[in-house]
Amino acid sequence: MTAKLIDGKAIAASIRGEIATEVEQLVASGGRRPGLATIIVGEDPASAVYVANKHKACDEVGFLGFHHELPGPSPFEAVASLIAELNSDSAVDGILLQLPVPDSLDGGRLTSLISPDKDVDGLTATSAGLLALGRKGLRPCTPSGAVELLDRTGVELEGAEVVIVGRSDLVGKPLASMCLERNATVTVCHSRTRNLQGVAQRADILIAAVGVPNLIKGDWVKEGATVIDVGINRTEAGLVGDVDFNEASQRAAFITPVPGGVGPMTIAMLLRNTLAAYGSMA
Ligand code: NDP
Repeated sequence: MTAKLIDGKAIAASIRGEIATEVEQLVASGGRRPGLATIIVGEDPASAVYVANKHKACDEVGFLGFHHELPGPSPFEAVASLIAELNSDSAVDGILLQLPVPDSLDGGRLTSLISPDKDVDGLTATSAGLLALGRKGLRPCTPSGAVELLDRTGVELEGAEVVIVGRSDLVGKPLASMCLERNATVTVCHSRTRNLQGVAQRADILIAAVGVPNLIKGDWVKEGATVIDVGINRTEAGLVGDVDFNEASQRAAFITPVPGGVGPMTIAMLLRNTLAAYGSMA
């Protein structure tokens, strides 16, 4: 079998298009534009690129972007007071603290200062708690992007055997909760899982969020399964995922490429969360 490609780039572009249309309608009916504030602390070049891409996407859909840069040696109180200011700014619907922050600061503690209503990254303890309890809240962007890809491809989660490899707070754990919420039967694997290959082979939907290039081999994939590769690994051969794409695509029914699969969905989901946060403010 040769798998059908799940084109995250095209799906993300259509989501951005839908959001842009909604913003146009809001503005045409006299509403203000949704606003996303970003904070970078220090001079991490990768963070600068990620945040620039987020602002570009904001411009494209008609959001207002507010960018704040603080120097690396900023004290905790300086970042905390900026977050407090943005929490009470009515033009700001979403706040994103770009991680990592410099080692002298506690990124988790700072993130937790973001008002849950504006937590468009879905990474505060409150948002994580709401998700775990199955209550309404802003969900983390990358796992939401993975679920959205399944939905838009028509892959049914209800009753499906989902195997997630990776249990990080950023991807694996929230994704497990989201799949459970959608009535999948979920198994979460990690570095101490015994017989990972055997567990992976059970999956109707196999999701890899590990950070090890080509860890998942073709024969770990059940014939006809759907494979979602969240991994982004820089190698000498360029960007590769956690799944051996060439092998796996011979057995899977649907598969995401890397790059161009889950990656572009993360920003699309950030925009969608910002619009949802705007909606809850309106
Ligand atoms: P983490 O390093 O936080 O977590 C990795 C997880 O993989 C851990 O749970 C770890 O287990 C598990 N793991 C590591 N090695 C193995 C192994 N050999 N077998 C089984 N499990 C293993 O990574 P993230 O969740 O932050 O990211 C995962 C990948 O997703 C990375 O490649 C990252 O670049 C990518 N990513 C992509 C995004 C996107 O926008 N598409 C966004 C975020 C991440 P244990 O808990 O036991 O240590």
